Amino acid sequence: MNTRQIDPFLPVDEEGYYGPFGGAYVPEILHSNVENLKEAYARYVEDPEFVAEFEQLLSDYVGRPTPLYHARRLSEHFGTNIYLKREDLCHTGAHKINNAIGSVLLAKRMGKTRIIAETGAGQHGVATATVCALMGLECVVYMGATDVARQQPNVERMKMLGAKVVAVTSGNQTLKDATNEAIRDWCCNPSDTFYVIGSTVGPHPYPQMVAHFQSVISREIRRQLKEQTGRELPDYVVACVGGGSNAAGAFYHFLQEPTVKLVSAEAAGLGIDSGESAATIHLGKEGIIHGSRTLVMQTEDGQITEPYSISAGLDYPGIGPLHAYLATSGRAEVRAVTDSEALEAANLLTRTEGIIPALESAHALAVLGQKRFGKDDVVVINLSGRGDKDMATYLKSIKNS
Ligand SMILES: *Cc1c(COP(=O)(O)O)cnc(C)c1O
Repeated sequence: MNTRQIDPFLPVDEEGYYGPFGGAYVPEILHSNVENLKEAYARYVEDPEFVAEFEQLLSDYVGRPTPLYHARRLSEHFGTNIYLKREDLCHTGAHKINNAIGSVLLAKRMGKTRIIAETGAGQHGVATATVCALMGLECVVYMGATDVARQQPNVERMKMLGAKVVAVTSGNQTLKDATNEAIRDWCCNPSDTFYVIGSTVGPHPYPQMVAHFQSVISREIRRQLKEQTGRELPDYVVACVGGGSNAAGAFYHFLQEPTVKLVSAEAAGLGIDSGESAATIHLGKEGIIHGSRTLVMQTEDGQITEPYSISAGLDYPGIGPLHAYLATSGRAEVRAVTDSEALEAANLLTRTEGIIPALESAHALAVLGQKRFGKDDVVVINLSGRGDKDMATYLKSIKNS
């Protein structure tokens, strides 16, 4: 393993390893694609023109900086000091647009004319289709046929934005299969096509690149916290983890600050031991998924198991290599949150603060009910998205309770 750190904040080396996790396990045919991406990313990430264009779009198009909001009634409820980072107020309703903009800008610099993406619930597909409309690029989104059927509003949005949505009918017809199909497309069209991955997963440099494009979240938190409280460092930063991009963005500028405790919330579904969960860090074993060595939910003989969570965005059988490393090295504490804990947390936030969170974000909020925080602690929770897309699920749960 090469141990030279190549990122100012992330614990990643030149080969893309975070401790034992990460790397780039891709078929021979994709080697040059991955190499070209690595070179382009290294060239543009600090290029002043690229940075200026990215930051201008983050401010004028996405609406950044997003507020850091001191949630007083929620704080009172839990006897601590809670600040919400309002990624739900980003254009399109979640943090995913930050990465979509950075990635598509890079694709343009590389001379690519065709963008492909995979999507599960459709949030990343919508963000990518949005940026492609903005930049006048062709966009193809792979989505499992099961997800196409159950996420109709997002499918309609992508189509209205001009994207072609391909319903994938292999395997279980969900995110894992859509990702395989996107990788296959990338193999066949290496010269004109750029693959925008929606989380801190995939072969190196994707996990590093996506974390970097999301790192604006913690850069803003530091500055905003300083303005509001006089101190730059909170005691805790809490975020939900699907593949890990919103958590990576929220943790990024605190990774090297040992006094800041990092807490990730993964989806326990019906319970860690129920056989119906997506608690990859609790249940996963080392394996390779989508081009990266990480923790994977799998059977004894290495078959990837189908994950389950009430929240489509956390329903993934792997986890980004950064988070596998932060968890196994003890830098981050990992909490498993069930469907019902997340629903309860969503209702509590709605009734105390008038904010309806995404179901994914509700998993981070549920940590407040699991863990005791001191009355002087400053706890920042990354509110990764808004709950409009989850209204049907919320209404059903209210009817059933
Ligand atoms: C997609 C999504 C997530 C999970 O993805 P990460 O890469 O782990 O951030 C979390 N919250 C929202 C609102 C999402 O749309």
